[in-house]
Amino acid sequence: MKPAYLRNPRLETITTRLLSCEASTEGRYLVELEDTIFYAEGGGQPADGGRINEARVLDVRKQGGRIIHSVDRPLRPGPVELILDIDRRRDHSQQHTAQHLLTRLASDRLGWTTIGFGIGETLSHIDFDIRNPTAEKLRLLEELAAVEIRAARPVQLRWVDPEEMARLPVRSRRLPEGLEGKIRLVEIEGVDLNTCGGTHVENTAELESICLVETESMHGGTRVNWVAGGRVRRRMAEREEVLAEIRRLTGAPDRELTSIIELKLSQLREARAGLRRMREELGASVALRLRSEDGAVIGHHLEDREMLPGLASALAGSEGNKIYLLLADDGSFALALEAGVSGSAEELGPLVAGALGGKGGGRDRLFRGKTSQAEHFEAAISALKAQLGRPPG
Ligand SMILES: [Zn+2]
Repeated sequence: MKPAYLRNPRLETITTRLLSCEASTEGRYLVELEDTIFYAEGGGQPADGGRINEARVLDVRKQGGRIIHSVDRPLRPGPVELILDIDRRRDHSQQHTAQHLLTRLASDRLGWTTIGFGIGETLSHIDFDIRNPTAEKLRLLEELAAVEIRAARPVQLRWVDPEEMARLPVRSRRLPEGLEGKIRLVEIEGVDLNTCGGTHVENTAELESICLVETESMHGGTRVNWVAGGRVRRRMAEREEVLAEIRRLTGAPDRELTSIIELKLSQLREARAGLRRMREELGASVALRLRSEDGAVIGHHLEDREMLPGLASALAGSEGNKIYLLLADDGSFALALEAGVSGSAEELGPLVAGALGGKGGGRDRLFRGKTSQAEHFEAAISALKAQLGRPPG
């Protein structure tokens, strides 16, 4: 017997018998039923959702000739009540019927052949065997679909023998492997006749509208992403919300948003370049001041961590025999050795990193690292002084 969702797709609830329930991975349980109203994933359409008694249906798949329901809790064999998630079903039926319509119109009116189809979480897609469709052609396809939606064409199901199907103008004759007996046909009256085991709306008016969103180049053709039905309204509402927020942030009306954002971004780039120049100048003057300080080991605290690399490089290897330990507010630190210092970064760096309770790396005259214990700064300075005070060897 064919499952209830194929015999009568309108059923939203039935009572049937649970045959078996096995524990699966990740707290899921695999359930087999005598009959089911839940559509199993296939043909580009995701599975239905809903409830089996108190258990939530997470997935439905065909395995061989069986339909396996994945649920979130164990269930006992015996009578069970199935309740369909009708919102999810309506959404999938809208997307799926819209695909029939788009595929047919694209084929008849534009000469585009469908090579793939899918319903994602937010977008549905059809893959066509064409390259770079023009915006005009995409708008035309959308308009052709709108005409058929306004025409409120009935969508009907029927079962036919293979002999009868052979006489009918069926669009795609590809059938699931191992299919026996009668074949299920879906007809959009006056527009399309096709074999299909999916779920559909009863009238094209139920599609509400179809909106083509974007295209992507893909191997062998072009993917057209679109939305149909309730998804059009949800998408519109989400975008309106984002636009309202951008209007609020920029204080500009819609038609000026892109030019205002372009202007702000170019101002930001200029400001960053200016800041970089100022840091370089400031770094040079701080380096000059530090080099004039007395003592063999000079410690310096920076509030602007972005200045640390430039300053450390300016000091490392310069003429003299001082050691500089620089620490920025975020815990980044650098050890810079002047040319005359007898030790190296490989030798003194780890000593400083250890005293600061941090990590780092470097060689020759420069060592950089990071610590979360900035309070050990003075201890690190003392450790360096003690190391320098030791006789060589
Ligand atoms: Zn279908």
